[in-house]
Amino acid sequence: MKFELTILGTSAAVPYHDRWLAGQFLHIQDSYFLIDCGEGTQFRIKELGLKISKVNQIFISHLHGDHCFGLFGVLTSMAINGRTNALTIFSPAGLQEMVEGVFKSTYYQSPFPIHFFAVDTEGGRLLFENQQVSVFSVPLAHRIPTIGFVFKEKPFPLNMRPDKIEEFSIPFTAIKNIKLGADFTSPDGRLISNKELTLPPKKARSFAYCSDTSYLESLITHIKAVSLLYHEATFDHKMADHAAVTGHSTAHQAATIAQKAKVKKLIIGHFSSRYTNLSILLEEAKEVFENTVLGVDKETYVVDI
Ligand SMILES: [Zn+2]
Ligand SMILES: [Zn+2]
Repeated sequence: MKFELTILGTSAAVPYHDRWLAGQFLHIQDSYFLIDCGEGTQFRIKELGLKISKVNQIFISHLHGDHCFGLFGVLTSMAINGRTNALTIFSPAGLQEMVEGVFKSTYYQSPFPIHFFAVDTEGGRLLFENQQVSVFSVPLAHRIPTIGFVFKEKPFPLNMRPDKIEEFSIPFTAIKNIKLGADFTSPDGRLISNKELTLPPKKARSFAYCSDTSYLESLITHIKAVSLLYHEATFDHKMADHAAVTGHSTAHQAATIAQKAKVKKLIIGHFSSRYTNLSILLEEAKEVFENTVLGVDKETYVVDI
């Protein structure tokens, strides 16, 4: 079952050579999500052959242009490509007015319903769930209202031991309940404990997206032990003062959050265009949190336990 993140852009504020603006495409089992949508997002999606038509939820972290100015192109292209399914867009307040304002001034009307959901910046809100995935908001600290997102797989059922099905003549109709934790009474009246019948379930995976933000310890509880964390690292630590003023993090700070939250793996991104070579940021982060990689445009990352 797939859990894959494709990064569409890793540049902060302005595009820089092969680093484009913020956007990520997330594929979890049967669900497809778009996270942030900077200018150029639809070009990346097209180039990589991603299934944007399957996206029914878009998550926008905040209303700075490098995170949402690509929406107009994505939405109108969806319409031209024949979309009729409703789309829900989660973001801090104000996005609906922005998108509807552009639609109005361009005499455009979307042929498919778009539902806007304004999210407060408290964090910890359940924004969306289906049978496989839950999505929660994460508080972030930036110059304008900003939220992050955590995508969590729902717990998997226990694994049935095939040998026990035969041993106790377990009927097919009883297996679903056993996988959910039930014991089984055999045809001769013996109670067989669930423990004897099952093996532990597959571990659920999770991904957290935290961009843009200053160093913020209160987000740690929301992203505790996630399988993969994407955290912005706009600057190196010599620029910590500038990062604080502009509402951004250094690579050292991103790694500190990863280490304190005990995440499994960290991807840093949202790099300032002042960095031609990103190795300074990677080395700085790895000193604090070894399992760090640089976010790379157009790369796909498999999310493991
Ligand atoms: Zn940004
Ligand atoms: Zn921003």
